[in-house]
Amino acid sequence: MTRRKPMEGCCLGIESTADDFSVGIATFNGEILANIISAYMPPEGGIHPREAARHHAENASKVLEEAFKKAGIKPKDLSVIAFSQGPGLGPCLRTGATVARALASYLGVQLVGVNHCVAHIEIGKLKNDAEDPVTLYVSGGNTMVAAFDAGRYRVFGETLDIALGNCLDVFAREAGLRQKPGEPFGAIVEKLARNGRRLIPLPYTVKGMDMSFSGLLTASINMLKKGDLKLEDLCYSLQETAFSMVVEVTERALAHTEKKEVLLTGGVAANRRLQEMVRSIAEEHDARFCTVPKEFAVDNGAMIAWAGVLAFTHGVTTPIDESFVKLRWRLEEVEVPWVK
Ligand code: AMP
Ligand code: MG
Repeated sequence: MTRRKPMEGCCLGIESTADDFSVGIATFNGEILANIISAYMPPEGGIHPREAARHHAENASKVLEEAFKKAGIKPKDLSVIAFSQGPGLGPCLRTGATVARALASYLGVQLVGVNHCVAHIEIGKLKNDAEDPVTLYVSGGNTMVAAFDAGRYRVFGETLDIALGNCLDVFAREAGLRQKPGEPFGAIVEKLARNGRRLIPLPYTVKGMDMSFSGLLTASINMLKKGDLKLEDLCYSLQETAFSMVVEVTERALAHTEKKEVLLTGGVAANRRLQEMVRSIAEEHDARFCTVPKEFAVDNGAMIAWAGVLAFTHGVTTPIDESFVKLRWRLEEVEVPWVK
């Protein structure tokens, strides 16, 4: 192991909001030294919060050890510990928070509770050198269009029910698709959709700036069960419909705010068709299209570490007795003194 002492200081970030347990290490000047992700894959069905939390507890020490090894630093080189404080699944969040509190107390360093959605935006900005994007954040647990306005990140539009990634995952499971290790259901749907030719009409629900995916999911499953349509056509139609909804809302936010950057992030950002659609509205509005490599788009510890650096260096810390997890912590509740 080559030992390197970070010049200015560095932050270790723990991510555990849902199915992933991840540890990242970021220096104060934005270098990502490590980003180790351990994904929980349920043997069947969706994520059970307590089972996922058990995975996190069982893998925490291994992931931490790997992160230190990758970064080439020792625990005592850390200046601050950050953790995802919310929003997310209670048992999963609590497991990460417990690890973070223990580490911070043991090392005698400050703790920073990070908002998961803020972290997605900040790592996207860091990796793209972006200043002030409209962000489309689409994952297994979240679907929102957000941007900075009047001192805070604001949610311009969001899902009223399930997340877009969850919609794709449930559809794929209902279709009996099988995952190989490390292969997300969304990626399997994407592959099938590439061979779809026929656009089947499906429920398209945008209400004001908000979206709903549950009707679309139910209709898609019902059509699947009838058995007279090609799966490729259904995957294609599901993607086109769902993506058009999020892209419509993103475009309206872009037109309204007149911002000059669009950031696509979250696990679903890996989808080429979605990237193409977001890129095309960005171009129409003379905005720069930004996205992040998968490692920083999915739930990851590096984004928590980086958001921790931003908070800590701007005087925001979380005393241990205020470090309880916040299952429904909304983006606009977060103070972000580092954004101007
Ligand atoms: P996250 O919640 O950010 O960890 O991301 C996981 C979500 O991203 C799951 O719903 C996956 O199915 C979805 N996903 C991953 N890759 C793709 C892809 N290529 N196309 C669509 N969705 C994807
Ligand atoms: Mg995940």
